[in-house]
Amino acid sequence: ATVTRAARPSARTAATSALRTSKLTSPASSTRLFSSSPRWDKQKLVILGSGWGGYEVLRKVDKKRYDVTVISPNSYFAFTPLLASASVGTIDYNSALEPVRRFHDITYYQAWADKVDFARKQLVCMPATGSSTRKRINASISDATDSSVQPTASFPGYKPFEISYDKLVIAVGCYSATFGIPGVSANGYFLKDIRDSNKIRSRILECFELASQPTVTDVERRNLLSFAIVGGGPTGVEFAGELHDLTTTELAKAYPKLSLLVNITIYDVAPGILGSFDKSLAEYATAKFVREGIQIKGSRHVTAVHEGYLEIKEEGKVPFGLLVWNTGLAPNPLIQSIKDLQKDEKTQSLKISDTFNPVTNEGKELKDVFVIGDASALKEKLPATAQVASQEAHWLSKILNADARGQDPPGGFTFHNRGTMAYLGDWSAILDRSQVKEGPKGELTGRTAWLAWRSAYWLQALSFRNRVSLAYHWFATWLGGRRLSRF
Ligand code: FAD
Repeated sequence: ATVTRAARPSARTAATSALRTSKLTSPASSTRLFSSSPRWDKQKLVILGSGWGGYEVLRKVDKKRYDVTVISPNSYFAFTPLLASASVGTIDYNSALEPVRRFHDITYYQAWADKVDFARKQLVCMPATGSSTRKRINASISDATDSSVQPTASFPGYKPFEISYDKLVIAVGCYSATFGIPGVSANGYFLKDIRDSNKIRSRILECFELASQPTVTDVERRNLLSFAIVGGGPTGVEFAGELHDLTTTELAKAYPKLSLLVNITIYDVAPGILGSFDKSLAEYATAKFVREGIQIKGSRHVTAVHEGYLEIKEEGKVPFGLLVWNTGLAPNPLIQSIKDLQKDEKTQSLKISDTFNPVTNEGKELKDVFVIGDASALKEKLPATAQVASQEAHWLSKILNADARGQDPPGGFTFHNRGTMAYLGDWSAILDRSQVKEGPKGELTGRTAWLAWRSAYWLQALSFRNRVSLAYHWFATWLGGRRLSRF
């Protein structure tokens, strides 16, 4: 029904569309897109980002009452807690993704929002398609320098364009922090998106193939099979656990001699790992890793990263075959470019009210703009997690829907902590519910926590298809192991 309506717009809709598209400044604007024709009676809601915040708003917002446009360089939502599993092939990468184009009654542009003009309610966007995108995406997940990367080809669809909004949701997340340490982006791998998972998986297998070459010396072989993880937070720890699973099962069978040379090490500036978890759980994880031969080197300061080796203040040159860098978050360049709104001093995220409105430098709330997820900072300091982003998005959808339906607003947002989890490998996990206010409190470790971890993520999968796919891949991995083909 939606397609029919879009294909045969009413005279009034067409008139509105012509009015709106005439505002676009790029040459592309001369081609009117039927899918972007806004309805007369609907407000235009533009959502920036298709991650935990943006995608949840897209799911929950009343699309009969809003003319929704999503702008995101990713044409999918990535279920980030499963990225570590995807990076070793425990699950197929598609099981962790949901396509934005699943929604047929919205407009989607695969593009970056580069500038926001809050006074004119307009955005400047840059297409995120083709070769320029690849360059830019690489920049985006590494150093926050991507706005300098401009499309080079004069292909149709490469040109920047402007788009207007009535209401704007900014859910662009953060980038990976490198703290200005030279060589990280060029020589290390981040684990922030599904593209990273694929690159990491490919590099792990490449290291084993390189180490199998007849020309490689014993020292080179050892170096290639040294896997360095910088950052001992939950992501680094989960990746170490998943990598250990892979190297001690399928890779140990496929490369029996090489697997004896594998060395997995976690480096962190803090004395230990999992600082955000309860101390006893962090100790449990540490003891388990030490037993399994995963080295934990705390109080280490990486000063530079080169091709094939790290420079560590306390150790000198440390060779590696693969380096995975996970040391926290840096602000998104779009957020950096915004000068007229207040920012949190520490995170540089946009300060927001409990109805998610950002605050101008003069102290006024911007009523038609909403910021959620990692890009936002509430007064009550909340962690940058999927849990927070999706709860904020859920609440924001209620606010938007109530507004469109002329109902009373649902009031301010309160975060409900549901606990934190981390997979440690070998069917073991930790679950920290010591800080939760509702439901059973306490901590779990080992197989029971692993069961809770898997069940929670299975239940949280956003489509029936992905639930089936996840169950299938977990079962197939258990039964037949992970696949080792490299493309
Ligand atoms: P994101 O989910 O990062 O989404 C940002 C979106 O904006 C993306 O679609 C991006 O492409 C898009 N975007 C970026 N720039 C622009 C632009 N200029 N214009 C338009 N779109 C743009 N949290 C948990 O609670 N539990 C976990 O187990 C957990 N595990 C994690 C594991 C990994 C490997 C990672 C990386 C994170 C994990 N997190 C976890 C943290 C969680 O994923 C983030 O806190 C969450 O993704 C934040 O949601 P967001 O919507 O703010 O940003």
